[in-house]
Amino acid sequence: MDKIEKTCIICPIGCNLIIEKDPESKDGYRVSGNKCNRGLQYAIEEMINPTRILTSTVKIRGVSNKMLPVRTDRAIPKGKLFQVMDVLKELEVELPIKAGDLIIENISNTNANLIASKSIV
Ligand code: SF4
Repeated sequence: MDKIEKTCIICPIGCNLIIEKDPESKDGYRVSGNKCNRGLQYAIEEMINPTRILTSTVKIRGVSNKMLPVRTDRAIPKGKLFQVMDVLKELEVELPIKAGDLIIENISNTNANLIASKSIV
């Protein structure tokens, strides 16, 4: 990898970031194209430990035509997304559920909690 390009997703401007390996710099990468420091931090994180908020749906016990939308309450490492999705595939929740209810604490040891995104009674 000499150089990669990524769109910064931190704000709607969507700067085109160019990330190059640079053994001389503190983080090991040189970043250009960012209009602010948040873009620089995003680019470095994407190279060192990319994370995402996971959003999905889970089954509701006894209800076949509806799913409960859920999400993690913080970003989790991209490398753990499939592991967490495997947990969600097996999961069934019971109603009633309020938006923000805790479904699974520290899901798959990610330090993130799985919470309901919507109320369903
Ligand atoms: S680099 Fe800064 S200005 Fe550009 S998209 Fe990212 S957050 Fe927005």
